[in-house]
Amino acid sequence: MSYNMMEDVERILISEAELAQRVKELGAQITADYTGKEILMIGILRGAVLFMSDLMRAISLPVSLDFMAVSSYGVSTTSSGVVRIMKDLDENAENKHVLIVEDIIDSGLTLNYLVDNLKSRRPASVKICTLLSKPDRRKAEVQIAYNGFTIPDYFVVGYGLDFAEKYRNFPFIGVLKPSVYQSAKQ
Ligand code: 5GP
Repeated sequence: MSYNMMEDVERILISEAELAQRVKELGAQITADYTGKEILMIGILRGAVLFMSDLMRAISLPVSLDFMAVSSYGVSTTSSGVVRIMKDLDENAENKHVLIVEDIIDSGLTLNYLVDNLKSRRPASVKICTLLSKPDRRKAEVQIAYNGFTIPDYFVVGYGLDFAEKYRNFPFIGVLKPSVYQSAKQ
């Protein structure tokens, strides 16, 4: 039986073209702000991977990459507030200009923890670049230097973001039909 993932989509919130345009703008802004510096981009696995790979190509400065993985929502869609490092950096962040690349900031609890954690490693600077922000859901304050899109309180998927490890490969940001979330709870 063939299964079309598009049948699970209720609507597209941000199109592929809109994403590409905004990523270009963010890259240009970052390039201007960091002129003369090297950037250590730290991608937060796994959701930020697609955004990061496009963003780095929009930056015309030396960029090195590293990744961290933190415990996240799992199959549920609400934050537990508990942050655990599942994978730490491979490189030393000391004296580096760290740019954290995140897919979405929701409660802010993950990033709030990560920024403090990274600051303790004495980098030259730490800034956050997030593709999406849901300010209505904020529980912890986070300073966002670069924000792709501010969105309402929807659970979104695509362009790296998943629901139960699915839908990351959609080239757009979309909202799923309520029936998809309901059937996963059963
Ligand atoms: P926070 O700590 O800011 O509440 O959570 C951030 C993480 O929660 C994100 O990196 C992402 O993994 C997950 N998350 C928050 N909102 C959404 C959403 O709307 N869709 C998906 N797929 N993940 C989300």
